[in-house]
Amino acid sequence: MKITSFEQYEQAYKQSVEQPEQFWADVADNFTWKKKWDNVLQWNFKDPDVKWFSGGKLNITENCLDRHLEKNADTPAIIWEPNDPTEDFRVLTYKQLHDKVCQFANVLKNNGAKKGDRICIYMPMVPELAIAVLACARIGAIHSVVFGGFSAQSIADRIKDADCNIVITSDGAFRGNKDIQMKNVIDDALVQCPSVKRTIVLTRSRTAVSMIKGRDVWWEDEIKKVETQGNPECPAEEMDAEDMLFILYTSGSTGKPKGVVHTCGGYMVYAGYTFANVFQYNPGEVYFCTADIGWITGHSYIAYGPLSQGATTLMFEGVPTYPDAGRLWDIVEKHKVNILYTAPTAIRSLMGFGLDFVKDKDLSSLKKLGSVGEPINEEAWHWLDDNIGHNKCPIVDTWWQTETGGIMITPIAGVTPTKPGYATLPLPGIQPVLVNENGQEIQGNGVSGNLCIKFPWPGILRTTYGDHERCRTTYFATYDNLYFTGDGCLRDEDGYYRITGRVDDVLNVSGHRIGTAEVENAINMHSSVVESAVVGYPHDIKGQGVYAYVVCPDMHEDADLTRKDIIMTVSRIIGPIAKPDKIQFVSGLPKTRSGKIMRRILRKIAEGDTSNLGDTSTLLDPAVVEEIKQGALK
Ligand code: ATP
Ligand code: MG
Repeated sequence: MKITSFEQYEQAYKQSVEQPEQFWADVADNFTWKKKWDNVLQWNFKDPDVKWFSGGKLNITENCLDRHLEKNADTPAIIWEPNDPTEDFRVLTYKQLHDKVCQFANVLKNNGAKKGDRICIYMPMVPELAIAVLACARIGAIHSVVFGGFSAQSIADRIKDADCNIVITSDGAFRGNKDIQMKNVIDDALVQCPSVKRTIVLTRSRTAVSMIKGRDVWWEDEIKKVETQGNPECPAEEMDAEDMLFILYTSGSTGKPKGVVHTCGGYMVYAGYTFANVFQYNPGEVYFCTADIGWITGHSYIAYGPLSQGATTLMFEGVPTYPDAGRLWDIVEKHKVNILYTAPTAIRSLMGFGLDFVKDKDLSSLKKLGSVGEPINEEAWHWLDDNIGHNKCPIVDTWWQTETGGIMITPIAGVTPTKPGYATLPLPGIQPVLVNENGQEIQGNGVSGNLCIKFPWPGILRTTYGDHERCRTTYFATYDNLYFTGDGCLRDEDGYYRITGRVDDVLNVSGHRIGTAEVENAINMHSSVVESAVVGYPHDIKGQGVYAYVVCPDMHEDADLTRKDIIMTVSRIIGPIAKPDKIQFVSGLPKTRSGKIMRRILRKIAEGDTSNLGDTSTLLDPAVVEEIKQGALK
């Protein structure tokens, strides 16, 4: 199943389009099934109704744990690096992880959990989070992981939406120099959630918490009970390929988060296949993804993907800037990380701290680098290539979404020739098309349009929880027989794909369509700019004007001169057509907790309409919005 040359990629791609069922059946054969499927694929994008490997029986945890025990019981499955670098790190081998998952699965059963139940997990990035996720999958309960930074109201919304009956949490969490009161937040959320009958509380920060008799139990006490019961095994529940595995809410950068549903068989095959190929994982390598398990990147590429391949996955509890901006590089050095998968927002923020935090670090173990979450601007791409990869590590710019389950358009490390700013080519099985506003496919190269996918892949979302109609209207109703990604995209003369941002974020300046990401990329090239966000606003002459919010912490000249320099930079790089009409200097941008810029808020401010900013519950720092509102340019 592993592609190792560009010729092999081309062959695999061709086969995946001509004989998709055969192609995916061959891939699926690399996994452990309790019973093989009856049909590889049944589908229509109208309802939509997509089934992969139906009739097949499996449990994803047997693929992530049990099947590695024979040969790799003592291979590290998880290396855990704590928030505080002076605290001991932990290593769990496949055998240890297997035993802990079985143990906690029995805890869940003792607490009334059954197949099909929805269980909310709200925990810090500790190994027990991965254990909780896998224990749910072990017994066939559906997990809904909520990122540990969310507020009580956001958690309550998600618990109610999925009608969860159990919550797994911890007393508190350490993130940077913060001490987060997780159980308190859960207590506030549960006031609104009568469906929750049990909370299981892990001890992490040993902060004082309220424990309600009959509802709240300690993780450690429950483990002791299982130990005295003396039955450490927990047989893996037999799941249908199309049974739900998990619900995960999108990051909410374009509106109210959607409860994306993934199922057992297809998701497993897709997460495993893409992990093995994109990162070209070799046995013995240490792989470090800096995401949180609370996001899809963590689900697919900290937990399920790597574990299904018997890989060693590093989990980091803290943040890249604690105790200082060299932390990621310290971790690479300490654990001899070979593969690093991170996000443009993290790279840009670390760039802002300068090279002092990088220069003395031994990064020689690194072999492959990856990026996800947003278009990576060229400056960040080169910074990563020059200063972290020392121009010898392929960079994979991986485009995908919560809804796609796994990576879709990306270079394969060391196999696909890369180009900065480009996600390059679709993986085998992925058939991207670009369409114009009327839904007509735009053929050929050197074109841009709205990115759609015309054929299902095993990791495609099956529904949005409790609201299939929302799934249909959001993704399948815009264009007939196409999955609509919501992203704008360019296909260059070489057939390489470059994501230009959300379709809503494409500007139309004097009749020219320009992606916000293109303009931001150019602005960020200016030497004193750390980060920027660009939106359109109504303009009498041009139709839309370009409004840029720019983070420029140490401006050398006065603001007006810097503005002119930025405008000159954009003119040079894209052309005068993309010149910002307004440049507002800000101290930070409104970001979601997953690090994405909420452009819809910036758009409203640029339009001068701040009365209703919509759902801002997923914002990291609402205060920044106030500051931007105050300083808005008329
Ligand atoms: P919501 O759908 O609630 O607005 P979201 O789309 O931010 O949330 P995710 O599913 O985490 O939530 O993000 C997927 C989006 O991230 C993609 O649609 C795309 O816009 C962007 N993205 C991810 N990776 C890349 C990449 N490598 N290049 C460009 N854009 C990317
Ligand atoms: Mg989205």
